[in-house]
Formats: sequence, C-alpha cells, structure tokens
Amino acid sequence: MKAIAVIPKQPNSVHLVEINTPTIDDIPDGRGVLVEVLRVGACGTDREINSGEYGIAPQGFDFLVLGHENFGRVKEVGENVKELAVGDYVVATVRRPRGHSIYDAIGEQDFTTDNEYYERGISRIHGYMAEYYSESADFLVKIPPPIAEIAVLLEPLSIIEKGLKQASDIQERLKIWHPKTAAVLGTGNVGLLTIMALRMRGYEVHGFGKDRHEGYKNADLCESIGATYDSTSDTSVLDSTKKYGEYDLIFECTGYSPIVFDAMQSLNENGILILASVTGGTRTADKVPSDKINQMFVLGNRAMVGTVNANREHFEMGVKDLTLCEAMYAGWLGRMLTHKVEGLENYEKVFEILNNSSQFGAIKTYFEVAKI
Ligand code: BGC
Repeated sequence: MKAIAVIPKQPNSVHLVEINTPTIDDIPDGRGVLVEVLRVGACGTDREINSGEYGIAPQGFDFLVLGHENFGRVKEVGENVKELAVGDYVVATVRRPRGHSIYDAIGEQDFTTDNEYYERGISRIHGYMAEYYSESADFLVKIPPPIAEIAVLLEPLSIIEKGLKQASDIQERLKIWHPKTAAVLGTGNVGLLTIMALRMRGYEVHGFGKDRHEGYKNADLCESIGATYDSTSDTSVLDSTKKYGEYDLIFECTGYSPIVFDAMQSLNENGILILASVTGGTRTADKVPSDKINQMFVLGNRAMVGTVNANREHFEMGVKDLTLCEAMYAGWLGRMLTHKVEGLENYEKVFEILNNSSQFGAIKTYFEVAKI
C-alpha cells in the first residue's frame, strides 16, 4: 500500500513509500482492528518533522510514516473486539504506553515522565498517512456518522480537551470556581477549536491573532460562534484587559513564547493559564516584569499548567463537543476544513500549503485518502 514518509532529521525528505498492508494479526490477543484511512490532517508538527526538527523512525526502519490527525472506517476486527464492527467510523489516539514510567503502566501515557515517548506518526511508530493501519481497539474511538465530515478535527481538539480537563481538575483546589471569561491566544486551527470548546462550555470568549481583522476568515469564524477577535498588532493581550477585564482562563496556542508573559499578567485572581504551544526554537524574552508577575501569581492564587498529547477520555470529550457544535452552529466546523487534497500521491501539494499557510488562507489542510 501507499504511505507518506520522511527520513527523520533530514530536511524536506517527505516522499511516497510502498509498504506492506497491515493486518489484524499484527495486534495481540485478538484485539486487532484494520482501519481504512479516509482522511488525514496535516499540521505544524508534520511540517516541523519534514523540516528535520524532530521525528524518530521505528526500530528497524530508516523512515517514519507521517500522520497523526486521522479518521477512518473499520474494515475488519479481531475475535476479541466487541465494541467495534465493520463499517464503523473511528479516530485513533496518538501516544502509546510503551515507555517505562508509572504513567505508562497505568494507561496515562499522555503524562509519561520518559523523555522518549511513542507517538504514531511522530516518534518511533508509523503514522496514519497511509491507505490502512491496524491498531488495538483500546486506542480507537468510535465516531457517530453525523460528524464523519468533520471528525478529522478530533485529534487536534483532543489536545484542547486535555488542557481544559487539567484546568478544571486543578481548579478543584477552589471550593467554588465559576469562570466566565476566557482569552484564547492564537486563532489558527487549534485556537479556533479552543474557542469552540469554550463557547460550548458557555464562556465569554476573546480570540487573539496576529492578523488584522479585515478579510481574515478566522476572525469571522470567531465572531460567528459568539466570540470576539482582536489583532495583537493593534491591541496586546494585556491592554485588552482594559476592555474585557482580566480573564478567568487563558489558553495559549500561538507558538510565540514571549506572549506567555503578557498572558500571565492578564489573568484574574484564582485564574488559570494553559500552555499548549510546542515552541521548538531558541527565542528569549526580555524586559519581563518578573517581580510583578511573581507577585500577581502569589497574591492572586493564580495557576499555570503545560499540556501535551491526549488520552482516550479527551477524545471522547471531543466527540461530544463536535456533536454539540454541529447542533448549535451547523456548518461552522466544516468551514475550518479549508484545503482538501485528494490522494496520498499529492503530498507535495499538502506540504506546499503547510509551508505557506497564510498565503493560502489555510486553516486545516488534509488528505482525502478515500471517500467517506
Ligand atoms: C500532537 C500530539 C503530540 C504532540 C507532541 C502534537 O502535534 O497532536 O498528539 O503529543 O504533537 O509530539
């Protein structure tokens, strides 16, 4: 079968490979599921892996099949798979519990303390940019058919769901926490999904991006779901508190780390800041008002947490938010799927869009590997 691979750490090595089609017998204990890939999303992580920044090939291979944002249809199930049937739509989680930490042992691999993690399409396990994959039913989440069209957004949404779950778990330190306002820093694909998830929870949401409002599709998307949009080229997040007040929750997903210090000064008392950008660069921030920030955190019982990856429960939360959003704002999620590329063989097009996403006005670029 066809698959899209890179030679890890070798810049621009993305290419088509021919590999064996997997089978349900690759998975032990009769728990195997063979999935026909229908759609695979492409994101900044795929772009950075293809730029040679990171990515690790599975043992015994010199290439890594890319792809972690996935959506497919069950083709065959092993004898001990009772929860899924042929024809079901599924999305697979990304990280596997193959590490040595206690979190891997208890199935909370998204909290692994190992430096070396196992993630499909990213690190040590082949991904989903292929015609088929096989996987244990334990890592597959069933998708209701009414959201099939937009289910390729579930994996990126799962990252947000984990962040929001962590925030609510942490805020249990307060006997009562009734958050009302939220700021979302970044209005790309992850930012828009965060705005959606917070709107589904009833927050007053303020989105912030670099682009100016006029002609910016993402700003329209913010507003058509009841959030505001401000360009940080005009108003800094900190200045925005004069207009909107301090935020009970801030979700950072810009990829621009200096903004974190601005966000830290924009939190309400008892508020929480969630950091979700994987900033692989070497940027530093100067003129950080450290005394002020430290004092605000101490005197205001403020909190900040980093979040990566997601577990099954977060995917399941995401299924509910996608379904609710379709019910409340029909068609809104579909507007995020801006760039569809048919066929894995057209991978060069996908990477051209990924590398120039603002020129293309791309929010989500994805392969259609087979028809729904
Ligand atoms: C993926 C996560 C993964 C993270 C770090 C993200 O793009 O969505 O599943 O844990 O990259 O590798």
